[in-house]
Amino acid sequence: MKGTVLYGPRDVRFEERDTPKITKPTDAIIRISATCVCGSDLWPYRGINPVPQPTPMGHEYCGIVEAVGSAVTSTKPGQFVIGSFFASDNTCPNCRAGYQSGCQHAEFVGTAQAPRLRVPLADGTLVATPDVPSKDQIPNLLALSDVMGTGWFAAEAANVKPGKTVVVVGDGAVGLLGVLSAKQMGAARIIAMSRHESRQKLAREFGATDIVSERGDEGVARLKELTHGVGADSVLECVGTQDSMMQAIRSTRKGGYVGYVGVPHGVALKGEELFYAHVHLHGGPAPVRRFLPQLIELVLNGKINPGKVFDLTLPLEKVAEGYRAMDERRAIKTLLRP
Ligand SMILES: [Zn+2]
Repeated sequence: MKGTVLYGPRDVRFEERDTPKITKPTDAIIRISATCVCGSDLWPYRGINPVPQPTPMGHEYCGIVEAVGSAVTSTKPGQFVIGSFFASDNTCPNCRAGYQSGCQHAEFVGTAQAPRLRVPLADGTLVATPDVPSKDQIPNLLALSDVMGTGWFAAEAANVKPGKTVVVVGDGAVGLLGVLSAKQMGAARIIAMSRHESRQKLAREFGATDIVSERGDEGVARLKELTHGVGADSVLECVGTQDSMMQAIRSTRKGGYVGYVGVPHGVALKGEELFYAHVHLHGGPAPVRRFLPQLIELVLNGKINPGKVFDLTLPLEKVAEGYRAMDERRAIKTLLRP
């Protein structure tokens, strides 16, 4: 089969790769219905994370189960399934606590931009929909594999509750779905920090009540103005830079919560500032598996449409253009169809 391989900065190729096979009794092979490019794929694409050797790419996926290993009991061929970027057994103490992305047996699923994918720990990782969904539901369901689950975790980690004031730092797909999550959780006021018109529009559609286009100290000052000098109850940090993290912490009221899901790049926090900030910090790689059943239900009941973040759809063989469009910010998020 042909799949996606990153060779180095801005060098994505669609080339011959080994067709995945069952290698452990707990594996499943799925035929990908749709996959996509993640904002985090842009770190190695831009050369910020080194690419020591040609690397298969992709960690967001949904599709039809083709084959399962001998130890797989609940996942069956023919089912439409969604899984997370971390395979998890869903039985260890960390999984039982709801932190499947910190599973004691976690394995990264990183070869999904391809027509077929091996998923380890299939029974713990994959969640099937009741029926094979219609084609127009595929983008919504694909989004649950990472970006929606991550936005949801950011909102949950930031303790979003009905009536609260929420700030979302970052207007990428995760930030936008953080807005959608906060809305679902009943936030009264959702302030999205964004400088891009098309993203501001989608943020409003997802439930943002205010937009702040200033950044850094100016952004914090504007935010304080909007909250009568107090700051927000809940702040979702969806970028992962020093500036975005400090902006998030400084936008939070005393006793408030920061949910941070942007993968940190060069972030260093000063103990003294943290000490006096009086904020709760909770984040990390989202335990998407925990949220999948609930989010699948919300999609199938028409309550959420997270697939709206895909503003570019390409055939899988055009994957290089998908990366380029996101790198140049011409697209929020690229969906790829094999
Ligand atoms: Zn586990």
